[in-house]
Amino acid sequence: MPEPLWRAALDWTHQQGQVELSASGAGESVQQVLPIADKAEGLEAMVKTLVDGPTQVLDSLSDIDAVGHRVVHGGREYIDSVRIDDQVKAAIQRLIPLAPAHNPANLQGIEAMEGILGDIPQVAVFDTAFHARMPEAAATYPGPYAWVEQGIRRYGFHGISHQYVAQRAADMVGRDLADLKLLTCHLGNGCSLAAVKGGLSVDTTMGFTPLEGLMMGSRSGSVDPGILIYLIRQEGYSADQLDTLLNKESGLKGLSGLSNDMRSVVEAMEQGNERARLAVDVFIHRLRREMGGMIASLGGLEAVVFTAGIGENSPLVWQRACEGFEFLGVRLKDELGRAKEDQDIAVADSRVRALVIHTQEEWAIAQACIGLL
Ligand code: AMP
Repeated sequence: MPEPLWRAALDWTHQQGQVELSASGAGESVQQVLPIADKAEGLEAMVKTLVDGPTQVLDSLSDIDAVGHRVVHGGREYIDSVRIDDQVKAAIQRLIPLAPAHNPANLQGIEAMEGILGDIPQVAVFDTAFHARMPEAAATYPGPYAWVEQGIRRYGFHGISHQYVAQRAADMVGRDLADLKLLTCHLGNGCSLAAVKGGLSVDTTMGFTPLEGLMMGSRSGSVDPGILIYLIRQEGYSADQLDTLLNKESGLKGLSGLSNDMRSVVEAMEQGNERARLAVDVFIHRLRREMGGMIASLGGLEAVVFTAGIGENSPLVWQRACEGFEFLGVRLKDELGRAKEDQDIAVADSRVRALVIHTQEEWAIAQACIGLL
């Protein structure tokens, strides 16, 4: 896979009214804090580093052939990547209630690019698409039948990443994806698992929203919905308060009281912090439990794949997650360490491979653009 010519990011979390822009290209990298609060303005400053300054890699912005976007929610309508037009934009807008934290930003990005680059082909690659063909039994919630008609169902997310690492895993083990049963573990700030059978997602842990399933950085993952009823009745919680509680104040951050970052929580645990230990224990317990569920949906297992921030970097998580599955023939090497390259961390005679793969969502989106245009 080719290295990107240029890459850039905007970090809005610093100080109000400021954005940190980092860009790399042409063997150089720059980092600067700019007095910008408007998202479109930030994107424009970012795109300019393609044609100006030390990171310049293009003569003109008109050299760009297409722009690909990761769009979080495609609902029932969009189960494949699609060229963006007014109808697609209206659908992303319509789906905002299903992904209030993500779809508005996706739409903003699309419109900002129109403003900066004019009438250029843009492609939406949906994070839900890979899971859109899940069997009905896996996609349906056991609520009233009206939910089925209303589209209250399990959509699943991180699809671009799950799909990419599944294909990469097949390449690494030298087999056809169509013949494999893979458990892909996307463990970053958001965490989800997918059961990938014959190249298709047959089950996943996230659902109607990216809140279901595993414990995450600041999201609770699945909890007894009765807790919400209790909090509403007994403590007068509003929808917004519950939203904040479950999405921003739970998970590693909520239990440890320290951080949503696994690195800080593990560090505190190693220094004897009991709440940090509990947070890590619950994270691992839930991870293993959901891994077991995915393996049952697969009905077998050729490889387990770890990816994203935690999945690519935490030998502790690999070890403790896989400990639960030694009885299935998952056996990891004794010496485990992070690597820049994708790696197989299982011993040679392990019945199941264990792979650490660096997810390349940008590359997968670029490929979708090429495929479509
Ligand atoms: P992502 O959402 O994929 O960017 O992942 C971000 C998360 O990865 C961070 O919040 C950290 O918890 C985690 N992470 C990054 N590096 C490490 C590491 N060396 N060990 C454990 N977790 C890590």
